[in-house]
Formats: sequence, C-alpha cells, structure tokens
Amino acid sequence: MPYISGKELLQQAWKNGYAVGAFSAHNAETIQSILWAAEAEQAPAMIQVGQRVIQYLGLEPMKKMIDVFMKDITVPICIHLDHSRKYEQTMEAIQLGFQSVMFDGSALSFNENTAITRKVVEAARALGIGTEGEIGKIGGTEDDITVDEEDAMITTTEEAVAFIEATDVDSLAVSIGTAHGIYKKPPKLAFGRLKEISEAVKRPLVLHGGSDVPDEQVVKAISLGIAKVNVDTELRQAFTHGVLEVLNDNPVEYHLAVYLGRGREVMQAKVREKIRLFGSSGKAQDFFQDKKIVMI
Ligand SMILES: [Zn+2]
Repeated sequence: MPYISGKELLQQAWKNGYAVGAFSAHNAETIQSILWAAEAEQAPAMIQVGQRVIQYLGLEPMKKMIDVFMKDITVPICIHLDHSRKYEQTMEAIQLGFQSVMFDGSALSFNENTAITRKVVEAARALGIGTEGEIGKIGGTEDDITVDEEDAMITTTEEAVAFIEATDVDSLAVSIGTAHGIYKKPPKLAFGRLKEISEAVKRPLVLHGGSDVPDEQVVKAISLGIAKVNVDTELRQAFTHGVLEVLNDNPVEYHLAVYLGRGREVMQAKVREKIRLFGSSGKAQDFFQDKKIVMI
C-alpha cells in the first residue's frame, strides 16, 4: 500500500504538466470506487476526507477504512484532509497518518489565516506531510459553509504572493471562478489571473469546485499550473444515480450490496473519466522509477 506525501505527489504532477484528482470519499463504497479507479488507470490519486463525512462517520474511522482498502492497491495514494477550519483538526489528521492536510482560513482575516496556516505548515513539514492553504473565497456550498456568489472573490496575485511569503505552504487553493456544488450556469475561469498567480508563486495550485467545469477549461487550467483538481459533487451524483437506477427499477430491492454496489460501479467509471481528463492516467509508474521519491 504505497502512500505518498501530498507534497511529493503534487510536485511530480506540477513538474510534468498534469493534475492529480482529489476525490472525496463518504463511505466504504466510495473509498473503493476511488481506489479501484486509480488502480485500473494506474494513476496516482488523492482521496479526500471532508468536513461532512467527519461529522457523519468520524476522522479516524475514515482513515482506518481507507487503510484497510489500500491493502490491494499498488498505485501511489495520498489521504488528504479537505477544508479544515480548525488547527486542532489538522493536528489530529497528522497524528492519524494523513499524508496531506488543508487548512482553510479563507473566512478569517489575512493575518489570522496566514498565522494558523504557517503553524500547520511547520508541524506538517517536520513529518514530510503536504499542506494546502486557501486565499480568496471560493463560492458555493462546501459541507456546512455557504459563500454567496457576490462574496466569492477572485484571488489577486498580490494576496497570493503575500500568502506564500507568510506561510510557505506547499500548494495553494485559488479562487478563479469555480464554485462548490452545482453550477447555475457554466463557469468561466479567470485564466489570465491563474497564469499570473502561477508564474508569481511558482508552486502547485489547486482547483476547487472541479465538478461540471467544462472539460476544455479544466485542461487549460492544468496547462497553466493547476496540479490538483477537487471533485466531489459530480461523484456523489454518479453514485446516487447508480443507486436510483436499481431502486427505480425495483423499489423492494432491500439488498444494500445490490444498490450500493451499482452506485460504486457508476462512480468508479466517473473517477476513471476524470483521471483521464486530468492527464494522470498511467503516471503511477513514474513514481516507482524515480528513486528519489519516497513512499511513506
Ligand atoms: Zn473545496
């Protein structure tokens, strides 16, 4: 079970011009969908544990469950804590053995955000764990927090540079016109700004709200420095459609294995589609050829 630091994983993707899919898991079946898709595509991947599933199942049960399903996996995988708004929670994830953590202080003042992110970076770096920070507000609803579209702000190059100088975080989530959840109208990403930020901060950037962004825009964003694309909503949709397909057909199908199994199948196909779109299909072998990359 080859776990890899989020830092190493994103550096490798960033230098080679592709992105790693960061797929959100919510239960046993969705963990399997993600791991099996990565294995089938021979792709490195991130499996994300977000705030909603932490409230619902718990941080430790998710980590333990992923560990169990990792036993048969041979591709590099990184377990990532998504959108943590508490320093203590990031420390708990680090203690549990996550390979990457995100502290999201985007709702705080710039100074508070950078101060806590810096502390997270210091603790994580000592253990070789990757870190992600966020600057600018990404619109939509993620877990329990909603950012109105008017409040969503495109990250400025100046604040991105200042944030990196203050925190030295390994990767940076930028707000460039995507939103969490389902789009009311197709997004138009701010490519000019993305390019400018990428050239200024010279490190992997992260695209949140990756569901339902038109494929050509995703590919262009990756070419401009996005090395991690978060996908959650589209995967939950795929899973639910699989379940509904069975239950609509037979409302008295009471075997969970039948309808959850179909959800797992449909979601796995969606994860594979995203891996191919992001250019990470077949990239697992590069990690094993490069002796400098250490699995943890
Ligand atoms: Zn997000």
